[in-house]
Amino acid sequence: YQKGYFKQYLNIDGWQQESYLDNDFYNMPITPVLDGRGDQAVVDLEIDGRSVKIRLWKLQVGRIPLYLLDSSHPANAAQDRRITAELYGGDTDLRIRQEIVLGVGGARAIHLMGLWPFVYHLNEGHAAFAALERIRQSMSTYRVPFDVAAEAVAGSTVFTTHTPVPAGIDLFPVELVERYFKRYMESLGMTVQDLMDLGRENPDDTTSPLSMAVLSLRLSRGVNAVSKLHSVVSRKMWRRVWPHVDEEDIPIGFVTNGVHIPSYVSKEMADLFARYLGDGWIEEPDNEKIWSRVYKIPHDEVWRVHETRRERLVAFCRRRLLDQKRINGRFVPDKRVVRAYLNPEALTIGFARRFAPYKRAGLIFSDPDRLLSIVSDKRRPVQFIFAGKAHPRDHTGKELIKKVVQQSRQEGFRRKLVFIEDYDLNVARYLVQGVDVWLNNPRRPMEACGTSGMKAAANGALNLSVLDGWWPEAYDGTNGWAVGGRDYEDPVYQDKVEAEEIYDLLENEVIPLFFDRGPDGIPHHWIEMMKHSMAKVCVHFNSHRMIEEYMEDYYVTAGLAHQILGENRLARAKELRNWKHKVRSLWKDVKILDVSLPAGDRVALGEDLGVTAAIQLGHLSDVEVVVDLCYGPLGKDSETITKRDLTVMISQGRQSDGVWKFTGTVPCQETGVYAYRVRVLPFHPCLVNPLSLSLVAWG
Ligand SMILES: *Cc1c(COP(=O)(O)O)cnc(C)c1O
Repeated sequence: YQKGYFKQYLNIDGWQQESYLDNDFYNMPITPVLDGRGDQAVVDLEIDGRSVKIRLWKLQVGRIPLYLLDSSHPANAAQDRRITAELYGGDTDLRIRQEIVLGVGGARAIHLMGLWPFVYHLNEGHAAFAALERIRQSMSTYRVPFDVAAEAVAGSTVFTTHTPVPAGIDLFPVELVERYFKRYMESLGMTVQDLMDLGRENPDDTTSPLSMAVLSLRLSRGVNAVSKLHSVVSRKMWRRVWPHVDEEDIPIGFVTNGVHIPSYVSKEMADLFARYLGDGWIEEPDNEKIWSRVYKIPHDEVWRVHETRRERLVAFCRRRLLDQKRINGRFVPDKRVVRAYLNPEALTIGFARRFAPYKRAGLIFSDPDRLLSIVSDKRRPVQFIFAGKAHPRDHTGKELIKKVVQQSRQEGFRRKLVFIEDYDLNVARYLVQGVDVWLNNPRRPMEACGTSGMKAAANGALNLSVLDGWWPEAYDGTNGWAVGGRDYEDPVYQDKVEAEEIYDLLENEVIPLFFDRGPDGIPHHWIEMMKHSMAKVCVHFNSHRMIEEYMEDYYVTAGLAHQILGENRLARAKELRNWKHKVRSLWKDVKILDVSLPAGDRVALGEDLGVTAAIQLGHLSDVEVVVDLCYGPLGKDSETITKRDLTVMISQGRQSDGVWKFTGTVPCQETGVYAYRVRVLPFHPCLVNPLSLSLVAWG
């Protein structure tokens, strides 16, 4: 974006102000992408009947080229030059134009540069039009209909959903889609209605808007959430996209986010790692053996590094506070006054993130008197550092910032509670490298993952966090503190209970442990906990492990689908489309006629329960379906199967016209009352997920 995201400063009342500075692309580490003639490469788009030129830039990030799309081409109309001016700058009309540039423009840019990737990974729905553009290109190259091209494109597309917060999902009303996609769809021999059908949660509801998330879900065969808990939430959230599928079967998996540890670890801590862990912590951060070496680092060395970084953080905050006050004109700059802010030896608790209301920045102020007594203990000094931006149009988020600032000016809190303006990567690094405790209290289950706690852990900070996002996967009782973890009906009650849990933890565990010093002045038990946190968090919550999981669970499958479906001018995509068409029309005849237990329903522990099913497949054959035997302990309601397991039933051939016999076994490894159910799903070797058709027959 020409102006990037905004710079934040606060007025006298603590109300967020935004300023937008122009980025000078010629003084940034980006270079123009050149075409064959040596000019800057340009992608041509048609938006609202006008021709729009998009310039291409490249930023080399380590080994990864990052390409940037820029609509500020001088040949463009003024309103088009503004499309990439600022993030979150306008209304839905600007938003859809931005997403046309990103999606349609992005797909064209990749091909213009001669790149033909096997796998396209859409992060959040914003780039969903890229899948549409790839379908369009494929239709014209291979002269195939939309649904054939869509099979090939969807097979090679991975979609990651990043938020359960509805405001994070782009919705476009039909009039807007008409305006920008009428000609585009007509050029494919289709209508805007066809596009709306793809992107509506319920295609029968013709008044509902186009959801970029739904469009992405329908045009990707690999779908994932960004933590285990988030996948549960996402399956519930998107269950209507797979109407006949049980919630737990909805094909949304998860790859929990990770951070690139070398980018967030302080220089001092990195030196310590190099000395005691070897270089492996950079090249093989998912190796448990390497991280277990943190236990060998002498306590005094860990503590010296950590105290250095805390001092560095305090000095940084004092500099920033001096600048903030100077700009506010509230204050004659005086280094002596600023020197009284924060204490380099106090237990330092950091809270920095976007001020989205669900992150509950104000939670710690629920009981100001209790907080006051926590920060007032002269023998055990405790201080808080806050930072974060609110979305420019989020009034509630701005109120929260104001609340923090007002609180920080109250007698008793002054100098012990500060708000650092203009949270960005630089502020984030100082904070995660210098704090003792990283506080995270989102309203469960709204946090999809969260990553700042991982950055803090890599630097030896301890997480005090609500069991939301990534924390349920990481917390093990030794490596930090956990708050909440239950579901609440009443958010007001949830706030009250969880705020009290936080105060209790601070008063009874965190503060006593931090000030429990040995004769050498070092908090040995605290350092033990820092080591547990470093060893157990870093080894899993790093980007190396994350990329490996994407590779193994998603990219390889998508890349294979790309090759197989694309072969021979989409021959297999055509076959798959025809087969789906056939199965959809014949599925009404699929019925489970009879399920029996030839050897009875009582089995001894360790034996197998044999199950036989007679299944009517009509005009389908036994190789076109997969029959699953689902089993597990019977729930208290005598209806549901808890902790469900699956085995596949084997065809024993045709019994009579259109009826097939299948057999399978349930292993009985535990005593109790068990239940089992038989289900039939369609099967084709090119089908990435048998549940993606939403066709299921239960017995
Ligand atoms: C890591 C980081 C974030 C994301 O943190 P969450 O814990 O996911 O909220 C946001 N902003 C900056 C500057 C960061 O460094």
